[in-house]
Amino acid sequence: MLLPAAAAGGEASELALELRTAGLDAEECYRVRDLALYKEDIRLYFTEGLLIFGKPVGGRRYSAVFSARVEGGDGEVLLMPPTRSERLSLALFTDSPNLNEHFSSAVMIFSDDTAERLLAQIQEQPRVRKEPERGVLLARQWGTVVNSFSRSFATRLVYDILSAAPDADRFFYAALQSHRHGSFDIVYDPTAPEQIQAGQVRFRDDRPFFDVWTSFPARSFRNGKRRAFQHGFHLADFRIQAVLDEELHLSAATEAVLQVDDGPRRVFFFDISPREKVTEVTVDGVPCEIWQRESLRANLFGGGTGLFLVVAPKPLASGEYRIRFRHEGRVVSEAGEGVYYVGARGSWYPYLRYDFSYFDVTFRYPDGLDLVFPGDILEDRVEDGVRITRRRTAQPIRLLGFNVGRYEHVRAEREGFAVEVYANRRVEDALAPQRKLVLVPRRSLPSPGKGMRIPELVAMPSEVPEVDPTARLEPLANEVADALSFFWKHFGRPPVSTVMVSPIPGSFGQGFPGLLYVSTISYLEPEARPEAARSLYNELFYSEILHAHEAAHQWWGNLIATDGYRDMWIMEALANYSALLLLERTRGPEALAAVLDLYRDDLLARNEEGQTMDAAGPIVWGPRLNSSRARAFRVILYEKGSWIIHMLRRRMGDEQFFKMLGDLCRKYRYSFLTTEEFRRHAAQFVPKDQPDSSLEDFFEQWVYDVGIPRLRLSQRVRGAAPRVRVVLTVSQAQVPDYFSVVVPVDIHLPGGRVLRRWVRTGDEPVTLDLTLPQRPVRVVLNPDRSVLAAPD
Ligand SMILES: [Zn+2]
Repeated sequence: MLLPAAAAGGEASELALELRTAGLDAEECYRVRDLALYKEDIRLYFTEGLLIFGKPVGGRRYSAVFSARVEGGDGEVLLMPPTRSERLSLALFTDSPNLNEHFSSAVMIFSDDTAERLLAQIQEQPRVRKEPERGVLLARQWGTVVNSFSRSFATRLVYDILSAAPDADRFFYAALQSHRHGSFDIVYDPTAPEQIQAGQVRFRDDRPFFDVWTSFPARSFRNGKRRAFQHGFHLADFRIQAVLDEELHLSAATEAVLQVDDGPRRVFFFDISPREKVTEVTVDGVPCEIWQRESLRANLFGGGTGLFLVVAPKPLASGEYRIRFRHEGRVVSEAGEGVYYVGARGSWYPYLRYDFSYFDVTFRYPDGLDLVFPGDILEDRVEDGVRITRRRTAQPIRLLGFNVGRYEHVRAEREGFAVEVYANRRVEDALAPQRKLVLVPRRSLPSPGKGMRIPELVAMPSEVPEVDPTARLEPLANEVADALSFFWKHFGRPPVSTVMVSPIPGSFGQGFPGLLYVSTISYLEPEARPEAARSLYNELFYSEILHAHEAAHQWWGNLIATDGYRDMWIMEALANYSALLLLERTRGPEALAAVLDLYRDDLLARNEEGQTMDAAGPIVWGPRLNSSRARAFRVILYEKGSWIIHMLRRRMGDEQFFKMLGDLCRKYRYSFLTTEEFRRHAAQFVPKDQPDSSLEDFFEQWVYDVGIPRLRLSQRVRGAAPRVRVVLTVSQAQVPDYFSVVVPVDIHLPGGRVLRRWVRTGDEPVTLDLTLPQRPVRVVLNPDRSVLAAPD
């Protein structure tokens, strides 16, 4: 669907229209042989077939189609991922670690010089024939397909063309049709953090997934010849005036500082929730053209699905400008009974990426509704039935969320901060108690004459239990306050002084700066929760872990952040393990042990193909772990992630571990952390006399790879005090040969003395040969769940 552009007939919308209606050029159809097209690591060979180009737009061609449907026709693609992990990924989806596929057709959309390069090769070949008649047929057969792809990529094509991006920064996309895999995609995008990607749209349970087969930096970026692309502009210092009307329709004016670093520049792109429409943009008061459309493939280009373009009438030199957006849409929906769901929690205003910034926000909304958002209150009044609340953040935050409802609220204060918890007054439809039929004995009547009284069972509607969505308001306030105090003690001051907690329908939570969203289920007493939320695991999740996990995001995610999908695990793992640290403090070490065992069992659970959840992929694949093959994101990021942090804790010991976390918060305050930076930071707290004190192997195994070993200990004890010879052998199983973990062995001696030895396992059993003054009382391999291992 094309959204009407605000400035109809603008440059961008005219260009987009031309691009998506251009079609194919029958006059530019060739019978080709042995053409080759290289895009860094991607090699495409058009061995034999017909090649037709798109009609030119503004003098340049942005599409081409190759068809191998001729005698002896063939095309071939070669792609070899450079790392073991990416070869593993490709093999999971295609059964081969390298992509070497024949294809029968290729639809290519590009903004770079692909057409010129192919045409140049064609001119050089002596036997090339033009085939205009075949061209007419091909143009008819493929024209609509090409137009529809051009439409999918319109935002990017228009951006590259209007901004006159250099060819080196432009993209290439091909949809290839192969015998074995059906249709799949190959992308080369020099502006993406990982420039090469191959994958496929697949449906499972009627839901589309984009399966990323492999994704990695292109060769010249890997070897340092090219540097990662930087956006030449950014937004800061947001001032938002928002109105939420009686129908919960949002309309807003968002003003920000637009910093242009690479001027002169005319074209900009921003993201916003696809539920909203941007109706007006001015830069320093000068109206700009807006071009916004829905795009299914926009996510291939590093943004959300709400990318839109802003075209200034004249190029802007480097410097600072005031940009003002008007935007509106339905970002709030009703879940029933006056319970609302904010669908666009982090994207209700235009943004480029989640940088740390200040926010000054005024909301106007119906009096009687409660609207919560972070920041210090500058204004809060009611005028003609409209409530006006203005808040400003005292610290930079990455994104500003809000929530709305008809709330009850309580406040809990601790030294240095306050917690405000808001609860819905009614329960939404999904949590409303259901009357169900239960079998009860009918009051038995005395049977005529003598004999037994037979109670008869009849179906009767059950009592409707009372479900009170404010039941845990007070306890929740204290639990969140206690969690924040506990984290403050270990990680340092949180980035905000007031944390609001508000309900969200669904079975999840989210921890935004100063504002937590906690599942409405957590607000209910355990007995009043839906059946599915009452297992041991879920009871722990909703009562003990969820609110603490989200509270911990004030540090992990909001004070320190990560950028890019490969590093997002660090924040989830730290937030979740922080919740487990609190659980250990309040419920004892056995509670932590029990949760870790539940997590381990989840990771070892096998699917119908006999594959463990853990084998779905390494934690650095992040969202790629949810695909048409597996839904492993949650278990790997939260549960394996918690294990990874727990194993680091055991390597360091508690004192160094907590020091490591506190230092991390100080060192990376308001900045972005990568997995390698995290490894180097953590390694400083590992005792130097341990094997792998640099944690290189640790990260190689647990972070960049998959596998959970089974560990075994065998022992031989000979001789008597004072010279006892103890030979311990540690072996591993169920993992590949290259797997190796560092695991402690505790030798308990009489009198409570414990001798700890660190052993590094390998494909061969490892032997420890010790001479001790006394016979050991017992020897324990992997004490305190030091290493994630399969139970014996
Ligand atoms: Zn989280």
